[in-house]
Amino acid sequence: MFHPVNSKTSFPQLEEKIFGLWKNKNVFERSVEARRDGRRFVLYEGPPTANGSPGIHHVLARVFKDVIPRYKTMKGYYAPRIAGWDTHGLPVELEVEKALGLASKRDIEDFGIDKFNARCRESVFSYLKEWEAITERIAFWVDMENAYVTMDNDYIETVWWAIKEMWKKGLIYQGYKVTPHCPRCGTSLSSHEVALGYQDDTEDPSVYIKFKIVKGLPSGLSKDKPAYFLAWTTTPWTLPGNTALAVAPDAEYSLLEGEEDCLVLASALVGVVGLEGYKVKEKLTGSQLVGAEYEPLFNPHEFGVERRRFQGSSELQLQGADEKLTYRVIATDFVSMEEGTGIVHMAPAYGEVDYDAGIEHNLDFVHTVDLQGNVTGSYPFSGRFVKEADPLVLEELEKKNLLLRQETIRHTYPFCWRCETPLLYYAKQTWYIRTTAIKDDLIVRNDEINWYPEHIKYGRFGDWLQNNVDWAFSRERYWGTPLPVWQCESCGNYECVGSVRELEEKPGFSGFKEPLDLHRPFVDEMTFDCSKCKGKMRRVSEVIDCWFDSGAMPIAQHHYPFDNKTLLEDGRFPADYICEAVDQTRGWFYSLHAISTLLFNKRCFNNVICLGHVLDAKGEKMSKARGNVVEPWAVVNNYGADALRWYFLTSTTAGNVYRFDESMVAELSRRFLSTLWNVYSFFVTYANIDRFTPAKEAKVEPSELDRWITSELNQLIVDVDKGLGGYNPTEAGRRIEGFVDDLSNWYVRRSRRRFWKSESDADKLAAYTTLYECLVTLSKLLAPLTPFLAEEMYQNLVCSVFADAPDSVHLADFPAADEAKIDKRLGDDIRLAMRVSSLGRAARSQAGIKVRQPLAKVVVRLQSGKEEEALKRVAAQVLEELNVKGVESVDREAELDKPGYGVVSEGGYSVAICTEISPELEAEGVAREIVRRLQTMRRSAGFDIADHINTYYQGEAYIGQVMADFADYIKQETLSSELVEGVPEEGVFTERHKLSGYDIALGVKRLA
Ligand SMILES: [Zn+2]
Ligand SMILES: [Zn+2]
Repeated sequence: MFHPVNSKTSFPQLEEKIFGLWKNKNVFERSVEARRDGRRFVLYEGPPTANGSPGIHHVLARVFKDVIPRYKTMKGYYAPRIAGWDTHGLPVELEVEKALGLASKRDIEDFGIDKFNARCRESVFSYLKEWEAITERIAFWVDMENAYVTMDNDYIETVWWAIKEMWKKGLIYQGYKVTPHCPRCGTSLSSHEVALGYQDDTEDPSVYIKFKIVKGLPSGLSKDKPAYFLAWTTTPWTLPGNTALAVAPDAEYSLLEGEEDCLVLASALVGVVGLEGYKVKEKLTGSQLVGAEYEPLFNPHEFGVERRRFQGSSELQLQGADEKLTYRVIATDFVSMEEGTGIVHMAPAYGEVDYDAGIEHNLDFVHTVDLQGNVTGSYPFSGRFVKEADPLVLEELEKKNLLLRQETIRHTYPFCWRCETPLLYYAKQTWYIRTTAIKDDLIVRNDEINWYPEHIKYGRFGDWLQNNVDWAFSRERYWGTPLPVWQCESCGNYECVGSVRELEEKPGFSGFKEPLDLHRPFVDEMTFDCSKCKGKMRRVSEVIDCWFDSGAMPIAQHHYPFDNKTLLEDGRFPADYICEAVDQTRGWFYSLHAISTLLFNKRCFNNVICLGHVLDAKGEKMSKARGNVVEPWAVVNNYGADALRWYFLTSTTAGNVYRFDESMVAELSRRFLSTLWNVYSFFVTYANIDRFTPAKEAKVEPSELDRWITSELNQLIVDVDKGLGGYNPTEAGRRIEGFVDDLSNWYVRRSRRRFWKSESDADKLAAYTTLYECLVTLSKLLAPLTPFLAEEMYQNLVCSVFADAPDSVHLADFPAADEAKIDKRLGDDIRLAMRVSSLGRAARSQAGIKVRQPLAKVVVRLQSGKEEEALKRVAAQVLEELNVKGVESVDREAELDKPGYGVVSEGGYSVAICTEISPELEAEGVAREIVRRLQTMRRSAGFDIADHINTYYQGEAYIGQVMADFADYIKQETLSSELVEGVPEEGVFTERHKLSGYDIALGVKRLA
């Protein structure tokens, strides 16, 4: 006997029970260990940060990370999965800053880097319990007890080793980088962070500045009036850093003469600027202006600021003082003729294009602002925050008569998304990894990777590699892997350290404190002697980008090469599979790929699924501010983890965006999980009534219907294997859904009476055996996708019967198809019967004729003679499905269009039903209605499905005649021993009905 299965169930409750079973029996660990001798299958878990609650998008990634290794395990692979946690980085620091009320880097340093980092270390795992709970609840099987943690000393040591390897290859260098910089947070923002913080309608100065021409004066200007280039800016604080003016070489420029001076600007913008009292004296092209020299607005040497010069690269050379300093006009291709003056003020320290032009034209580089955004040097506005300095800069220029006009504009400006401080584009000293040196290798190694969806490979990811720029990987922060570079205080010599031991063995090493902690400030206190001059080596202050940490996980989690020396050869590298959202093409996917190419010139993963983002039901981004964030627990508690998994796996193909709507989870759960559950419940209920016991090698005589569903089942195994093997769980899931639909709506429905009939014959045994095989196989096919429901079915159908079976479906093997049982022709035949039946039912409903009313004929038009042959083979099924007496086929559509017929067409098929009902057909229809009422009454009276009854009836003569004519049929269908005319005795369940206009009273009585 199977454990009884109610047709109604609560999936969340069921899952709690299964979850307990897995825990008690250690099923995950055992499923891995059981395959120890199998080929390895390696998943790299992209480490999340556990200092915030897991969101619905984390659940999405975790479902996809889970399904493939589960499948591979069932296929015999040894697939240990190790969890990991990303622990470093700015988000962690910000949480702590907020909690401690610290407002700047100075505050942090006053508080103490040691205490600050200790707080970061504590805060990293503040949501760990929540992460572990949701991970377990959605059945993402991953080893969390042995998780790797990026802040561990061993992990950091491997990262140091990796950096030292790159250092030895000359791939690490120091340069400047113009980045959007938040002066409050004291750090750069990545481009996607910048995108988060644009504010419209920001008020800024809009000023026209005059640059005094000293050499290469345009010919037509009067010698006794001073002449100026006119430029425009909205960031006056950058003007002391001006070192060039840019023009468009092909554009036309005008020389204008006023009463006191002469101005040069683009002809197209003269009207826009509006210069009253000035007259055009001459016109010339931009290229004629190139090389002209002008006086700096502020000579840096007068204000104690250093001047450096580009030498064709990011390297800058210090320049000596020059009282007669001039700058020059250059030609570039980015000068706008839409706004400004057509002459662009260039400050290479404060803009990315300016910086690049600096390298290209060997411009000077003058930096007058510190990391807090305050002006340095001895300007009248020094010490001020740049935005406060703006008006003072203009005041100074006004005094020098270099300010033509001052207005304000409202425009869109980027602010720090965390603290709303205006961002400054700002050149900072930064450590780079020269990834451009291995660009070709990055591209070649990418050729070897399978991307799902495929277009990412040469699209989003391939483009990213094609346009590769060096990786600016240092961060001027506190809580991160310290950059293992030491610099000599005396001679400036740099040394990179690749291990703790190397550090300890340095001559003159000191500053070590027990216990070892490879974080700031402890690492900063370790010093040693310079190998060149015996000066003191101190660590540079930077930590590294936490993307480097997570990208080093293939080796760092195993403390390679200090431990696990065979890692690269023993099957643990590269990964067989990784999966994250598509934004990781520039994040973790890239850092993994770059680091393994830099170190080993090898690919890091063989297969990668890129998931689309999860938006809300309206297609909008989820955010706390909008209040549209979906809480994963609520969904799991309402519908169960299987339902959520099924939604993520099948609602759209991986890579597409999810418009998350809880009602969709409900709908898919109803459509699939409940349908399967009903079939399962139906089977168990009848199998228990008949005391059906499955045998291991059942010898049965299958009917055509059995052979058909067995054929479909074996084809399904082939398809699901192919889907999961091809990293397409969506395809696999949808095929299973289609099969379950056929199983429920064709096989089981058409087999009902085989299960209902009272005698236990060979046909009944064949039906039970076939349906049993379908359900058991489904449990195994579904195990990777909906692990809970699969387990429930397997426990009841298999474990309760076969003591020697694996005690969990997740310990079972993936089913193998018996391709000899796949009968393509039979499959096509039944598909045709389904199609004709479905169109015929539509035709009936269009004509308003109930299904129970038998009809004389159905006429069909098919697409080929072959199909007409097939129709003959499945005619009996079509007649039964459509409750008609005959079927015929015609060649032409026109033949269907005749009076007395109702037609429905679809996809090149037409089906017409004869709508004329003879008295005989009507009587049969009434008999069927009576049967249906009696069956409903049996249920209402609380009888068991197998109970035998007596039926009572009273009605007009017509009813009596129908009861008599169809007595055998009615008795058989309702398990009635007798049909008794007259008033029923006491205690009989009775109801009155009206059928085809006739009144009838019916009664049912259970027989002992
Ligand atoms: Zn900020
Ligand atoms: Zn030295």
